[in-house]
Amino acid sequence: MDDFNSETDSSYTSYWRDWFISSRGNEYFCEIDEDYLTDRFNLTGLNTEVQYYQYALDLVTDVFDLDCDDEMREQIEKSARHLYGLVHARYIVTTRGLSKMFEKFKKAEFGKCPRYHCDQHPLLPMGQHDVPGVSSVKLFCAKCEDLYNPKSSRHASIDGAYFGTSFHNILLQVYPNAVPVKTTRRYEPKVFGFRVHAAAALMRWQEDRREEMLDRLRRARVESGFEEEEEEDDELEDDEDMDGDDFDGEHDGYAQPTTVQAHQ
Ligand SMILES: [Zn+2]
Repeated sequence: MDDFNSETDSSYTSYWRDWFISSRGNEYFCEIDEDYLTDRFNLTGLNTEVQYYQYALDLVTDVFDLDCDDEMREQIEKSARHLYGLVHARYIVTTRGLSKMFEKFKKAEFGKCPRYHCDQHPLLPMGQHDVPGVSSVKLFCAKCEDLYNPKSSRHASIDGAYFGTSFHNILLQVYPNAVPVKTTRRYEPKVFGFRVHAAAALMRWQEDRREEMLDRLRRARVESGFEEEEEEDDELEDDEDMDGDDFDGEHDGYAQPTTVQAHQ
């Protein structure tokens, strides 16, 4: 069902967009359809956002025909890239745009989560702002639900607004099968085998909260999305009475090396 043929406009050779998409550093972008770019409705408001708007649009749609010096040409080129990015943010939340980005996601073209416990889960590009010029693109992992910086500096300088704050969440709603099973696995800091006190207390508190939430979901018969946990953990876990919502450092059974004690 998600098999859109991305080559439908193959009879048309899009020089500028072809060049843009295949340029090094532009691997996160998908190709915007000709029909989308030429429909003025989709570009509403962008004329005030982009310098030399009409020339930039002409360049992107390969009808640019202006005799100008190199400096001007460079300015227009810059505007064209900005325009493409802004339209891209709108395009990738359309059915067709989502489908193209989903294909890229499946091939892990946006990279894989660097977190060891996420098992190389593919990432999705996203912006923290929809306004351009505020922050650069980040990568979202649906497994740990956290954000990462792109590995390459070529990608790290891309404006986050070219992807927007909603795209990654919309994609996961449109393709629910892409939502991964959540994992409860995480790293426990230890000193010579003893769990580091503050971290362990915080983890226990967080795990408590999560258990409560899962209980509530179970009672309400709501699918939590967490993987089924095998009872693999050791004696530290089960013999203690977890005392609710504090993590004030009164739990016993944890190492308290003097160097870790924060409060005197
Ligand atoms: Zn992750």
